[in-house]
Amino acid sequence: RVNRGDFMQALEEVHPAFGVSEEELAQVIQNGIIHYDTVVDDLLRTGQLFVEQVRTSTRTPLVSILLHGPPGSGKTALGASIAQASQFPFIKLISPDNMVGFGEAQKVSAINKVFADSYKSPLSVVVVDNIERLIDWTPMGARFSNAVLQALLVLLARRPPKGRRLLVIATSTVRPILTDLGLAEVFDSEMRVPPISTLSALERVLREVELFPTSEARRAAMRMLQEAGFSSDEESSRLQIGIKKLLSMIEMARQEPDSIAERLTGSLLGLGM
Ligand code: ATP
Ligand code: MG
Repeated sequence: RVNRGDFMQALEEVHPAFGVSEEELAQVIQNGIIHYDTVVDDLLRTGQLFVEQVRTSTRTPLVSILLHGPPGSGKTALGASIAQASQFPFIKLISPDNMVGFGEAQKVSAINKVFADSYKSPLSVVVVDNIERLIDWTPMGARFSNAVLQALLVLLARRPPKGRRLLVIATSTVRPILTDLGLAEVFDSEMRVPPISTLSALERVLREVELFPTSEARRAAMRMLQEAGFSSDEESSRLQIGIKKLLSMIEMARQEPDSIAERLTGSLLGLGM
């Protein structure tokens, strides 16, 4: 006999297959989310408010937000985290990384399919990652795929069918370009994801990833960074680094256990500021 418990369990089991790209989401948040600054919590909290708006408001079945900021500041990981935390039954990532070698028409149809699939679920999140790469925008001569751009413009403005609700989270590194393309105004809200610019934020990251064996070693490294001209005063600090790049510098410095601090300082100074 199949009882209600079995039925509910079966529902739970099909739930991921229905429309959550768990692996894909996990992959882009591979290194977790480090709470190195209040801005990180603010971004996640604001994201959560939009999730709740989609979940509860009947007046706004479509909400779209844009996460923009310099390369490697953590836009994709934050977008995916907000999406994942929603626990909506349909969560998909549209990423240029999954469309390598696609022609224009193939891209348009892949993007269309994700949105069409989302309309079958009562609550959905679609992450449109790296818009400029999706439309093949190049700074040289400002060329791009108009077919993909037009598809996005339509999909970002289209209300889902009755009874369906959708949150779109897009990311971009070239915010000003989106205005030129007519893409900026389709978003209900935008959030800037800044690079790490203070020594205290940097120290939080170092502590979190346990780069130094002791807190004394970490403090010594912080002094070295200060002497090198980095400071905790955002105005005068020379520090400007995306979390993505910082994490990779940290892993490189880790390879040289005897001179971790020197390695790290060297890499940060090497940023050319
Ligand atoms: P790109 O400009 O190349 O698209 P990005 O801004 O999308 O880069 P991500 O690809 O999201 O940056 O890379 C951020 C990396 O840092 C991820 O591996 C993520 O797990 C890790 N990370 C750690 N802490 C944070 C944080 N607070 N916010 C975002 N990402 C974080
Ligand atoms: Mg990204």
